[in-house]
Amino acid sequence: MRIGIIGAGLTGLTAAFELTRRGHKVTLWEKENAVGGEAAAFDIGGNRLEKFYHHIFMSDKALLGLLTELDLASSLQWLPSHVGYYYSGKIHNFTTPVDLLRFKPLGITDRLRLGLVSLYLQRYTQWQNFEGITAQEWLLKNAGKRSYEVIWGPLLRGKFGDTAPQISMAWLWGRIRMRLGSRRQGIGQERLGYLKGSFGRLGESLAQRVQSGGGAIYLGTPVKRLAIQDGRVAGAILTNGDISSQDAIIATISSPSFLSLVPEMPSEYAGKVGQTRYLAALCMVLTLKGQFSPVYWLNIGDSTFPFVATIEQTNFVSPSEYGGKRILYVSNYLPASSPLFRMTADELLKHYLPFLQKINPRFDTGWIGEYHLFKEEYAQPVVPINYSGQIPAHSTPIKGLYLSNTTQIYPEDRGMNQAIQLGFKIAGLVA
Ligand SMILES: Cc1cc2nc3c(=O)[nH]c(=O)nc-3n(C[C@H](O)[C@H](O)[C@H](O)COP(=O)(O)OP(=O)(O)OC[C@H]3O[C@@H](n4cnc5c(N)ncnc54)[C@H](O)[C@@H]3O)c2cc1C
Repeated sequence: MRIGIIGAGLTGLTAAFELTRRGHKVTLWEKENAVGGEAAAFDIGGNRLEKFYHHIFMSDKALLGLLTELDLASSLQWLPSHVGYYYSGKIHNFTTPVDLLRFKPLGITDRLRLGLVSLYLQRYTQWQNFEGITAQEWLLKNAGKRSYEVIWGPLLRGKFGDTAPQISMAWLWGRIRMRLGSRRQGIGQERLGYLKGSFGRLGESLAQRVQSGGGAIYLGTPVKRLAIQDGRVAGAILTNGDISSQDAIIATISSPSFLSLVPEMPSEYAGKVGQTRYLAALCMVLTLKGQFSPVYWLNIGDSTFPFVATIEQTNFVSPSEYGGKRILYVSNYLPASSPLFRMTADELLKHYLPFLQKINPRFDTGWIGEYHLFKEEYAQPVVPINYSGQIPAHSTPIKGLYLSNTTQIYPEDRGMNQAIQLGFKIAGLVA
């Protein structure tokens, strides 16, 4: 079969890899000039680094299997992670469960309750029971009002902004299980996986396998429309007007981008696809002369801050990997309509600076070497209660046309592992 794939992120590349291996004639189009999508990397400090911070968990089995298949497993390192929480003008260590017991802003009863709730969620398997209740409601009832105000509320707002009160408890369950699965027996220090030379290598290696297996990859080639004839997909229309005829097409792009390619999509399916809202990701990468903080991942529990976390790559991976430079990500999730999303790198840095100085008062612009800004409009699907009923099927009502994206992995949270699982799944379905 001739199979076209839109998007060379990890979903599209994995599907292309599998379909090429099964003997299909695969053509993959990517609008950017490089493969990898959200997990793409760029050059910095003589090495490669993800545009958006990336690590993996021990529970990421599909990804671990693929690394072995691609002969990349020997480059994977399991490194201790240092997690912190910025609250009331102070960095609190949150690396081990003992740190939680020392967290003074909560009384001892709330701290114990928080620990018990985390253990309970890690062991509980019937996530369907969480479908009809919001995370806010469940946490207020089970972890308590104070824990919600101090910890859970700010964390949920950091990830989902104003939509935080709508988020399903089933989503939070998936997220917590994934995270605690990277601690030994659920209680030791967390270890996270990192691929030497960046996870960008994963996409690049998949692309090489696709090409050596006879598949074609066109970079800098956005698909503009799909050609539909008699209720079946006939091919992809590119920006230069060329039509590439195909027997089947898999779209691995965001739901709004997908709908814009097929205005003739029947309204019931289009309505379902169009229902999911997204938050955008805004990520600034700075190279610094010195260490910014002692932690790798610092969640910000202060709603006056214009960003939600700092991620100091070089508190995770040694600075020697980047020519001795320190690397800091300043991360944000926000609606794409936010004025911050439209700011230039210079404007945003100026806006962030006083808040970075609140975390580290010694920090100033003299510390900064390079800075880069990366944006992703459709980064995080918003997952409200009873979301399973609003997930569109992979097979669309247009024959031969398939959709496979991060809105379809619930109750798991989006990640490279889920993209790889999706890629294999859709390849099997189409083949
Ligand atoms: C800030 C941030 C941090 C993250 N951290 C982690 C992490 O620590 N660990 C982890 O496992 N995952 C992480 N992820 C998630 C992970 O990177 C993604 O879930 C995964 O890479 C998604 O892959 P995908 O192929 O489904 O989508 P994408 O990577 O979005 O790929 C879709 C591709 O389609 C292309 N495209 C769009 N429209 C068109 C068109 N019309 N024509 C042609 N091409 C088109 C896009 O350019 C893109 O390359 C993070 C993501 C973000 C944003």
